[in-house]
Amino acid sequence: MGIPVLQAAKIGAYVVKQQLTGRKRYPLVLMLEPLFRCNLACAGCGKIDYPNEILNQRLSVDDCMQAIDECGAPVVSIAGGEPLLHKEMPQIVEGYLKRGKFVILCTNALLLAKKIDDYKPSPAFTWSIHLDGNEAMHDKSVCQTGVYDKAVEAIRLAKAKGFQVSINCTLFNDADPAQTAAFFDEMKELGLNGITVSPGYAYERAPDQQHFLNRTKTKELFRGILARGRGGKNWPFTQSRMFLNFLAGNEAYKCTPWGNPTRTVFGWQKPCYLLGEGYAKTFKELMDDTEWDKYGVGNYEKCADCMVHSGFEASAVQDMIRNPLKALAVTVAGIRTEGPMAKDIPIDNQRPAEYVFSGHVEKKLAEIRASKPAGSHRPRITRTGAAKPGPDEVVAAE
Ligand code: SF4
Repeated sequence: MGIPVLQAAKIGAYVVKQQLTGRKRYPLVLMLEPLFRCNLACAGCGKIDYPNEILNQRLSVDDCMQAIDECGAPVVSIAGGEPLLHKEMPQIVEGYLKRGKFVILCTNALLLAKKIDDYKPSPAFTWSIHLDGNEAMHDKSVCQTGVYDKAVEAIRLAKAKGFQVSINCTLFNDADPAQTAAFFDEMKELGLNGITVSPGYAYERAPDQQHFLNRTKTKELFRGILARGRGGKNWPFTQSRMFLNFLAGNEAYKCTPWGNPTRTVFGWQKPCYLLGEGYAKTFKELMDDTEWDKYGVGNYEKCADCMVHSGFEASAVQDMIRNPLKALAVTVAGIRTEGPMAKDIPIDNQRPAEYVFSGHVEKKLAEIRASKPAGSHRPRITRTGAAKPGPDEVVAAE
């Protein structure tokens, strides 16, 4: 099924309007991270390693509404952390739906059965369940057994209650094309409304640095998967065909990081969902003051292997609007999985990586402590092996 027709039409009209008005940079999907706290400790994610005082921060309902009002994107993707740990999540979703936005609520599904009746089915609302492959692949990815089974149960429950349900699947360098294709077949049989797939980005703080894909491996992996599904036509991907075409090595796009602006408890994240190199107080400041040319493949070492949808989907959508016949040909014929690949952007002159993370954490901690009465802040609980929710978080999840 993929992207519902109404959603595709509304987003297409929005993009065409931006192009016609000559707007150089505009957002497509607001990436909202209203908290970093999670109830899993996945190997490919470094977020639950923040100090407890930061993990206990939340964006309020007002903060979340202000974020969409400031940026005006037609779609909001709510991630984290685990969004279902946020006590005000139902009001946040409702607020966005009332504003006519399409809402994608990403979850690891561990709390979905408990929380599902706080939400109502709507054509504009989709649960996006985190599933990084079949049982063996996913439970390994999230470092806990039994999570795959719970996620599949949650998908069945949400479908039975009339919700739109998709999965978001991140692949690493141990993904096997045949197994992944078989997994997509199984997911399609569950009656999913969509599949979002992306190669993992090598977060510098992720505990497991061994299993991220480089660009060549990413393209080979996606060719191997898509070749087993009629060039991708077998599965209900929610992404544009042109983005999948890019993953298969048939395009060499520059990223469009402002297409998916990211609002977290730190502020508006510069330059993108994947890199936190600085924070702006407002969306305007993010757009006006970010030195965009310093980032992207070929410009910055941390970007060299990035092919993630949050950076390149907007590039693919723009290409589709500019070259509709090329996009139509890819859609009709399926994605090419053989033959030469597009020449990639050279990385010989990229600037070296800067490591600025700890400075942002210290700044945020200072802000939090300054805003509290003296002596009231909790001591930091560091992660040693696994992240455990703080006592107030257990309450928040109830
Ligand atoms: S290439 Fe760099 S700037 Fe662009 S989306 Fe990826 S990490 Fe972000």
